[in-house]
Amino acid sequence: KDRKSQGLPVKLPIPGVNNVIAVASGKGGVGKSTISVNLALALAQNSVHKVGLLDADIFGPSIPTLMNLSGQPEINHQNLMIPLLNYSVKCMSMGFLVDEKSAVVWRGLMVMSAIQKLLRNVLWGPLDFLVIDMPPGTGDVQLSITQNIPLSGSIVVTTPQDLALLDARRAVDMFRQVNVPNLGIIENMSVFVCPKCNHHEHIFGQEGGQSIANEIGSEILGSIPLVKELCFLSDNGQPVVVAEPENPVSLIFRCIADKV
Ligand code: ADP
Repeated sequence: KDRKSQGLPVKLPIPGVNNVIAVASGKGGVGKSTISVNLALALAQNSVHKVGLLDADIFGPSIPTLMNLSGQPEINHQNLMIPLLNYSVKCMSMGFLVDEKSAVVWRGLMVMSAIQKLLRNVLWGPLDFLVIDMPPGTGDVQLSITQNIPLSGSIVVTTPQDLALLDARRAVDMFRQVNVPNLGIIENMSVFVCPKCNHHEHIFGQEGGQSIANEIGSEILGSIPLVKELCFLSDNGQPVVVAEPENPVSLIFRCIADKV
């Protein structure tokens, strides 16, 4: 049976966009935005793919800072917003349209219509990949995105911590319910390697990501260690993949991009 006859929203493709990948997490602060940005950049590196990045986190947009972009998008003759461009990636974020203080008073329906606009009223194409930095959690907004756009796959970001893993399972289930394949799990902050003595400390525990991956018959796409540069560079709008292409972490992101 098709979705319409089942009373489900019909998934309308975004013109000129070949693959839409949702990067999600069960809770905030696990590094979902950092990973979305670096994954998008790794996919776009050496002009291999045409890539866009949508910040669907309406309440806490972080793509403007991470991608070092500001200002308002121009509107073309078809009334479509032109995404802002940096490091060869087309970006769109609520942060370009309203200031943060206005965003906090937004509520459910307004947020959904805002996300619809960021998806449909933007000149995205032609793109090989549109990476969506999903809002954290598994509420109505997240579900509405998964129900309205044909997603090629989801990537779920988690830390090895018990609570985060529980939330990650919820995120995996959300995509499963709408038949979006899981491309894999990215375990972030997997280990801290002391730069002085090379000791490996598993601050948030160990191997949790692998157990979820096993459980859902998926794989770990990559494990990103806790590194000071990643945090510092991100805050300065210089994602590690472009700022330090030789950094081992950049290599991990390129490997992940190859698997997507
Ligand atoms: P989320 O999008 O899940 O809320 P962010 O990507 O905003 O998470 O990351 C939260 C904070 O953690 C940011 O300050 C970011 O720079 C930092 N961070 C993320 N991943 C790492 C990492 N592997 N090592 C060090 N800092 C990290």
